[in-house]
Amino acid sequence: MGNRTPLIAGNWKMYKTCPEAVNAAERLAGLIPGGLNVDVMIAPAYTALFPVADVLRGSIVALGAQNLYWETEGAYTGEVSAAMIQSAGCSHVIIGHSERRQFFGETDENVNRKIRAAVDARLVPVLCIGETEAERDAGETFAVLDKQVQMGLESFSLTDLERLVVAYEPVWAIGTGKTATSVQAQEAHRYVRGLVEKTFGDEFAAGLRILYGGSVKPSNVRELMDQPDVDGALVGGASLDPDTFIQIVTYQNKIV
Ligand code: PEP
Repeated sequence: MGNRTPLIAGNWKMYKTCPEAVNAAERLAGLIPGGLNVDVMIAPAYTALFPVADVLRGSIVALGAQNLYWETEGAYTGEVSAAMIQSAGCSHVIIGHSERRQFFGETDENVNRKIRAAVDARLVPVLCIGETEAERDAGETFAVLDKQVQMGLESFSLTDLERLVVAYEPVWAIGTGKTATSVQAQEAHRYVRGLVEKTFGDEFAAGLRILYGGSVKPSNVRELMDQPDVDGALVGGASLDPDTFIQIVTYQNKIV
């Protein structure tokens, strides 16, 4: 098995003004214990990236954006490029989150172009995939994951994807309080690793970090992280309060 340092990532979605984000990031950085064997990332709204980068300097907490646009610059009102988020202090970027796919019409082709822009800017792309409840009920989960992975990663080389992170986020579990069982998560993660292995080989697949996302909280993180193919978590609601998020980040210390 590849050496996969767990990654716990917080997606702050459209929450927190600049002062609120700076305050939460400062509190989080102050709560991180020394010697933590876990990578940590938070993704505030675009407006808060630059000031939050400032307070995270010197901390192990990495900064991510929640989206980007694939063009380098131009007349694209309201969009933000890879170079812009990188210059604001980001090392990571979330791509293809289900809320973008659902509410903003993002397609697998768009996702592919965004990953290209992230790779070209040396950002770590966090590719989100996952089925809806209707797709799961119709027995289409694997077919959906197949399409999202194949199309999202089409035409990339192994070198391009060296720092790729994938987040399996069943849409029915996001913000709903319904978490996939650890068995469901493991089954999907195992499947995704197998898919990646077919295209990119076993060494790459063994090193790929696959995060689980969907109503992760302090009470369920340990069981999810105990699954052999779950390498971290993408956390929405429970990442907003640093006192809650730190309990997820330090899941290894939890006695269950
Ligand atoms: C997310 O935003 O990626 C997410 C998983 O949200 P939540 O943890 O609130 O379900």
